[in-house]
Amino acid sequence: MSKLVNNPLYNIKGLPAFSAIRPQHIEPAIDHLLEQNRNTLKSLLKQEHYTWQNLIQPIEDMDELIGKTWSPVSHLNSVANTDELRDAYNACLPKLSDYATEMGQNQDLFNAYQTIKKGTEFTSFDLAQKKIIENALRDFKLSGIDLDQEKQGRYKEIRQRQSALGSQFSENVLDATQGWHKHITDKSLLEGLPDSALAVAQQAAQSRDMADYVFTLDFPSYYAIMTYANNRNLREEFYRAFSTRASDQGPTAHQWDNSKIITETLALRHEISQLLGFKHFAEKSLATKMAQNTDQVIEFLENLAVRAHPAAQKEFQELQQWAADATDIDQVQAWDIGWLSEKYRQQKFQLSEEELRPYFSADKVTQGLFTVVNKLYGLKISKIDNVDVWHNDVTFYEIHDQNNILRGQFYLDLYTREGKRGGAWMDSCITRKLIDPDNSHIAHSSIQTPVAFLTCNFTPAIDGKPSLLTHNEVITLFHEFGHGLHHMLTQVDYVSVSGIEGVPWDAVELPSQFMENWCWEQQALNLFAKHYDTGETLPDKLYQRMKNAKNFQRAMVMVRQLEFALFDFKLHLEYDPNNIYDVQQLITQVRDQVAVIQAPASNRFQNSFSHIFAGGYAAGYYSYLWAEVLSADAFSAFEDTDIFDSDTGQRFLHAILEKGGTQEPMELFVDFRGREPKIDALLRHSGLN
Ligand code: ZN
Repeated sequence: MSKLVNNPLYNIKGLPAFSAIRPQHIEPAIDHLLEQNRNTLKSLLKQEHYTWQNLIQPIEDMDELIGKTWSPVSHLNSVANTDELRDAYNACLPKLSDYATEMGQNQDLFNAYQTIKKGTEFTSFDLAQKKIIENALRDFKLSGIDLDQEKQGRYKEIRQRQSALGSQFSENVLDATQGWHKHITDKSLLEGLPDSALAVAQQAAQSRDMADYVFTLDFPSYYAIMTYANNRNLREEFYRAFSTRASDQGPTAHQWDNSKIITETLALRHEISQLLGFKHFAEKSLATKMAQNTDQVIEFLENLAVRAHPAAQKEFQELQQWAADATDIDQVQAWDIGWLSEKYRQQKFQLSEEELRPYFSADKVTQGLFTVVNKLYGLKISKIDNVDVWHNDVTFYEIHDQNNILRGQFYLDLYTREGKRGGAWMDSCITRKLIDPDNSHIAHSSIQTPVAFLTCNFTPAIDGKPSLLTHNEVITLFHEFGHGLHHMLTQVDYVSVSGIEGVPWDAVELPSQFMENWCWEQQALNLFAKHYDTGETLPDKLYQRMKNAKNFQRAMVMVRQLEFALFDFKLHLEYDPNNIYDVQQLITQVRDQVAVIQAPASNRFQNSFSHIFAGGYAAGYYSYLWAEVLSADAFSAFEDTDIFDSDTGQRFLHAILEKGGTQEPMELFVDFRGREPKIDALLRHSGLN
């Protein structure tokens, strides 16, 4: 114990002391915590009768302590990755996995939950408490409580292996992304690239002690080449490097190959699902989701495909025709799409992404986002200085509501850098709960303020200019902030259904995709789309062109989402352990069904599909489209009144954002909208009606 006294992860209270956390602190803190929890559980189970206060609440607190301790570790592993941190992180994974399995397979604990469920106290519980007990009983089954000892052992083994595989998958993607770059000394190769992209590439070269330009596979750098480089060979080279990351193909073939991890992951998912009595992993995945069965998911996706595919084909033909007329490209390849589309859009709508960028400085966009949520929900957001963070770029904020009550706090980490995983995401650092020191439940209780991590990978400020975002990046920031609000504005008092906890995964994208809508509204844009240099508001004409181009290639984007969603779902639905399962063949089949762009045979998209192999979206990627029905329909309630209608905003806040996982998403949606969701708004917004 004495060794733990100076360990910043020991007995963590309040915000994590990021600057003090070292890899060597991690394992001892986790070891201690797991042992302490195991001992607590033993004594809890010795009690004669069980109540919320003497059993469920302490279990909630035990789980929460693990979450609170592990969250900064896993966050650092994602945003400030080093070999030492990786080792410490990976060393804890099997311990955490085993602990979770033990809890889920503890017969005495299961019996205790059942006793409480059947007891008289249960009827006095509020919705959240009831839901926690029902979820727990479901999760015992999903952890193999009903299995014999041998099968329980196998379950435990599989879970442990799965967590290691997910971590390896993610490491390979990060290493493969950072393991390739191109040093370019001949500037003529870079014709077409905007100055902003060249400046970033110069900085990337300098940071490697090189002259001229370095382009990497970090998204902003890769994206610049694919969108602007006139040199077709260069685009092809980058496309091949990016689309073969972590595979048996491309410039770093076999170095960080995820193929075997994919094969093993699928086999284990199938095995564990069958062990638990499901037909396949797709069915197991739906056991905790809003969608009722696998047919419903497939039907939903295929119906959308029927609408979107012909429209996407038309868009693609139009692009091909334009390419034939206006360029010397007669056979459009995958690496031409981004570049051609940008050129075509410029001609068709007189709109270029670069023209918009000066209006979207990261600072102003962030402030604008805060103003939007102020208008919608009456929230006030202010920056707090001198908070301990993991990098100089990171800022910290507090959210107060209109009654001046502190509702949440968040870290904002916007820019791409080495050792930081790509993409954008929200994660929970601390979850809201009622702290009830003497079990009085009301008298001396206080609230633990929820804290979120908001992470993006935008281009940092460069050459004295502020960081300037693309419109897509603006949408990304709004999206992640939507998740953040869901986590932080919750009014639920118990951690396991507080914020995004306990929310079925296919409904979790509702608050996030909902927020994206404001990025297209002039009233909202006028609040923040101001030229970084002149302060001029986004001119009307430019806005009109942007709005006109909103649905440019919208169907092509949708079929791409459908391709990912169908691939993911069928992968887990059709898996057959008795046949050698050919993942490549499945993705080809799905592409034949929905895609309009021919991917080259070397494309190994699946090898970096972290959402489903290292994240929570396995047999659940359809969630984005599923929840878009909800988010588009929810937004249409504002279209019916006013996009800043504060009554509608308050209703959304109370019906959806504050409720966490206390009720089924369908009930919450009906509370807000007065009826079940309709797909009409999504089709209308996408121009597919
Ligand atoms: Zn999201």
